[in-house]
Amino acid sequence: MSIEVTNVSKSFGAFKALDNVSLTVGAGELVALLGPSGSGKTTLLRIIAGLEIPDADPGTQIRFHEEDVARVTVGRRRVGFVFQHYALFRHMSVFENVAFGLRVLPRRNRPRRDEIRERVQTLLRLVQLEGLAKRYPHQLSGGQRQRVALARALAVEPRVLLLDEPFGALDAKVRKELRAWLRRLHDEIHVTSVFVTHDQDEALEVADRIVVMNAGRIEQVGTPDEVFHHPATEFVMRFLGETNDFHGRVDEGTVQFGSLQLPYPEDRQQILGDARVFVRPHDLTIDTQPKGMPSLQAEVSRIQSAGPLVRVELLTDDGQHLAAEVSQERFATMLLNTGSIVYVRPRHIRVFAS
Ligand code: ADP
Ligand code: MG
Repeated sequence: MSIEVTNVSKSFGAFKALDNVSLTVGAGELVALLGPSGSGKTTLLRIIAGLEIPDADPGTQIRFHEEDVARVTVGRRRVGFVFQHYALFRHMSVFENVAFGLRVLPRRNRPRRDEIRERVQTLLRLVQLEGLAKRYPHQLSGGQRQRVALARALAVEPRVLLLDEPFGALDAKVRKELRAWLRRLHDEIHVTSVFVTHDQDEALEVADRIVVMNAGRIEQVGTPDEVFHHPATEFVMRFLGETNDFHGRVDEGTVQFGSLQLPYPEDRQQILGDARVFVRPHDLTIDTQPKGMPSLQAEVSRIQSAGPLVRVELLTDDGQHLAAEVSQERFATMLLNTGSIVYVRPRHIRVFAS
C-alpha cells in the first residue's frame, strides 16, 4: 500500500508546523522522517494517520494506494500506530493487549476465538515474545513493552504502520538492538511503514529512504547513502554527522579556505563567490610531516582513543578548532601526543553557497 502526500500544510494559529510538504512512500517501503525536535515529524505522521486535519487547500491530497483518504476517518484508514510511550493496558496480559484490536472489531469482521488465539500467538512469535503471553506490562522491560506495542499494532493487519520515535525512551544498547530487529521484522512482513526519529544513526541504519525535515519543510529525500554522501543542503550536511566548517571562496574551479586552495569537488553543482566549506572528521588526513601537498598546520589539543576510531582534536595556526578521526591502525603508527604539530589535509570537501 503506497502513501502519497501532496502539498500538505498545517498551521497551529499563526504558526506553520508544516509548509507545503509532498512525499511518496512506496508499497512495502520503510521510510524514516528525520529531523530535529519541532521540525514537524509527528504532525506529518498524525496527518497520514488521520489524527490531524491539514489546512484546507484545493491542492492538498492524501492518498493510500491511489485512494483519496482525506475524508476517511482514523478507524477506517487501517493504520497501525506505535508511539514512544505506548500505553499498554496495564490490567491486561500481553496476550490480551495484542488481542484487543481484534476483540473490538465489529462482529462481522471479528475473527473467531480460536482464530484470535492463533493470530496473537503468531504475532508474539514474530516479535519474539512467545513465552511471555501471560505476563503483565509491569513485568516487562521497556524493549519488550515496545515489541508488545508493535504486535498489537500489527494485529489488525494494518495497511500502513506508523511509528513515532518508538525506541526514544529506551537506553542506547536496547535501542540499537531493537532497530536492527525492526529492520529484520520489516524485511519479513513488508508492511508500508513510516518511522519518525531525531536520531540520524537510527534513520541511516533502519530506513530504505530518509526524509530529512527542518522547520516544517522537507530538505531532502534519499537513500541513507544519498543523504549521507550527497547532502543537498547545508542543513542535511550538519544534521547527518559532525562537520568541520570553514568560510571560503569559489573561483574558476577552485575552492579557497583557510590557507588552502583545492579543486572544486566534481560531484557538486558549481557555485561562485562566497561559500561554506564542510569537511567530515573522517575525511581529514593527519600527517606528522608535511607531504608537499596543500595542508593546514595544527597542534593536537586532545586525543580520544577509546572507540572504533581515534578522535583527534586540533587547533590550527589561525585559531580554528578541528576534529579528525583516524583508524586505530593508522593512529598506532603515528606517535601522536597532545601538543604534537601535525599537517591536516581534507580528502573530501563539500561546498555550499553562503
Ligand atoms: P516533531 O515531531 O518534529 O518534534 P511536531 O510535529 O510535534 O514536531 O511539532 C512541530 C511544531 O508544531 C512544534 O513547534 C510544535 O510546538 C507545534 N505543534 C505541534 N502540535 C501542536 C498543537 N496541537 N498546537 C500548537 N502547536 C503545535
Ligand atoms: Mg515528535
